[in-house]
Amino acid sequence: MEEIIAYCGLNCSAYPAYIATQKDDYEEIKKVAEQWSNESMSFKPEDIYCDGCNSDERVFSWCKDCPTRNCCREHQLENCAYCTDYFCDNLKKTFGMDPTAKERLDDIRKNL
Ligand code: SF4
Ligand code: SF4
Repeated sequence: MEEIIAYCGLNCSAYPAYIATQKDDYEEIKKVAEQWSNESMSFKPEDIYCDGCNSDERVFSWCKDCPTRNCCREHQLENCAYCTDYFCDNLKKTFGMDPTAKERLDDIRKNL
């Protein structure tokens, strides 16, 4: 599947919420909601639908409150690679969790 680069550099198209949404598979969406729910967060199937965090339409409910996403949208940036303050504390956790996010954004920056 083609990579969809999120604001933070993650690849949205690798995530179960995105994959289940694109397949329009309600059973799989329900399963993702169950798997991602825990004592502190609870998701319903309708929370899971996602076309990637850059989408204006369907976005996984948790992503709607993401500070990185909100910051890029506020500043009308395609992603954080285009930010003059690259990179800030918002991205540290993402890069720690998945270093390929940094690699993607660094690659974009090389060609700016
Ligand atoms: S919602 Fe935030 S953490 Fe999630 S992919 Fe988008 S920018 Fe990254
Ligand atoms: S300040 Fe820049 S690097 Fe940090 S979240 Fe906002 S756009 Fe991304």
